[in-house]
Amino acid sequence: MLGSAKTSGRRGAWSFLAIGLLTVLLVQVAGGALAEPRNPDGQQLELRARSLMAKLQEQYDAMERLTEQINEIGRAAQSPRSAATAPRTRHADQVVASVCPYCAVGCGQKVYVSGGKVTQIEGDDASPISRGRLCPKGSASKQLVTSPGRVTRVRYRRPYATEWEDLPLDRAMDMIADRVIATRAETWQERQDGRPTRRTMGIASLGGATIDNEENYLIKKLFTALGAIQIENQARI
Ligand code: SF4
Repeated sequence: MLGSAKTSGRRGAWSFLAIGLLTVLLVQVAGGALAEPRNPDGQQLELRARSLMAKLQEQYDAMERLTEQINEIGRAAQSPRSAATAPRTRHADQVVASVCPYCAVGCGQKVYVSGGKVTQIEGDDASPISRGRLCPKGSASKQLVTSPGRVTRVRYRRPYATEWEDLPLDRAMDMIADRVIATRAETWQERQDGRPTRRTMGIASLGGATIDNEENYLIKKLFTALGAIQIENQARI
């Protein structure tokens, strides 16, 4: 399949070259004929152009035959295993457009889903940013989603504890909210050196790369509204 694509590309390049040369010659002939319709030099030029075009056609035909022979060799050398090879994504019943969660380049991804499960993640050729490409990290995105080591529960280690424990999500959210409210109240600065500040220096936010831009938008709005000014995020678009 790759060999076929290569030879097809080569054929396209030769066609493009031949058509380009023919066009140049035709423009020259037409230009000469229009500018000097009765000029013997113009007739000479036309004859030369026709001869060159015939030679080009011969070379083009030879290249076509050679390309076909190369394709034949490729097919003859193909093993049954290669012939039976098919894309890993052929059984996907859904393809969802997404963005790589890792870095600020924001390469486009196609997430292949089968039976409600992510089966493959590949580059999205429709993305104007990456045009189907992913770096090794982005290519391994499926592991981020499907790894058995992925933490899917809230884990909490109490002060001075030596063990982690599971917490219900609602309980964890309440604990975070209580601490944010208390910290804000304790560290609120209405003024500094006589000038209004209306801020807290006791709260900061640092987002991770897997936070997408919609989440970042909400985080920025929330913490700014709370009076925090130390808000940063690891690069992401
Ligand atoms: S980690 Fe790689 S694939 Fe993902 S956005 Fe960055 S450059 Fe693109």
